[in-house]
Amino acid sequence: MIVDERFAAYINSLENGNKKYLDELEAYAWKTDVPIIRKEMQSLLKTLLVMNKPKQILEVGTAIGFSALLMAEAAPKAHITTIEKYEKRIPLAKENFKRFGKDGQITLLEGDAAMILKQLTGTYDFIFMDAAKGQYIHFLPEVLRLLNTGGILLSDNILQDGDIIQSRFAVTKRNRTIHARMREYLYTLKHHELLETAILPLGDGAAISVKKETARQEGAE
Ligand code: SAH
Ligand code: MG
Repeated sequence: MIVDERFAAYINSLENGNKKYLDELEAYAWKTDVPIIRKEMQSLLKTLLVMNKPKQILEVGTAIGFSALLMAEAAPKAHITTIEKYEKRIPLAKENFKRFGKDGQITLLEGDAAMILKQLTGTYDFIFMDAAKGQYIHFLPEVLRLLNTGGILLSDNILQDGDIIQSRFAVTKRNRTIHARMREYLYTLKHHELLETAILPLGDGAAISVKKETARQEGAE
C-alpha cells in the first residue's frame, strides 16, 4: 500500500459498483492471485474513458480480461485490442469475453507485446499499459508511435508497491532492475517533448500521459 489504507478504504466505500459479473470476476481474480487493477484504478480508468471518448483502445496485459471487460462497459462504442502472452491466462480471457458477450468488441492478441506492438499498424486513442513493469520503458517507443495526438497513455503499477522512492540499495536485488527501469520510464514520461504527464499515488501508482502536438506540427498550422 502506498497510501494510507484508511484513505483507500474510505474512497473505495463510495464506489457505486460495477456490474455483477465484473464483481464476480474480480473476486475470482483476487482468489486465484491474478493481479488485476484495484478499485481506485478502475475508477480512474472509467473516468478517463468517459472524458476521452476513445474509438480505439489498446491494452498491454490482459490477464483474464477483467480490465478489458470493465473498459468495454465504460466505453461501449470503443473497440478494444488487448495483448497477453501467458498461455494459462489466454483461454480464460477468451472464454470471459465470449461468456459476457464482448468477443465482438474485444480482440485478444496472443504473444509477447514486445513483438506484437511492433507489428500493429492501426492507431489508438487510449492505451492502457498494465503488463510487466520492467518492460514499460521498452514498450514506450512503439506505444508512442501507435498513440494518436490527443490520445491518453495510462500506466498502472508505476510506484512499484512503494519501492520506487527507496534507494536502489534498499530494494531487494530481484527488484532492482525493475526499480531502475521504472525510474527511467517515469523520467521519460515527464520529460518527453510529446507528452504531458501526471503521476498519481493512487492504487499502486498511476501515470496519465497525453500526447501533444509537436512544436513542428504547431508551427505548420
Ligand atoms: N489488465 C489486467 C491485469 C494484467 S496483469 C486487469 O487489470 O484485469 C499483467 C499481465 O501482463 C499478466 O497476465 C502478464 O502475463 C502480462 N504480460 C506481462 N508481460 C507481457 C508481455 N511482454 N507481453 C504480453 N503480456 C505480458
Ligand atoms: Mg496492474
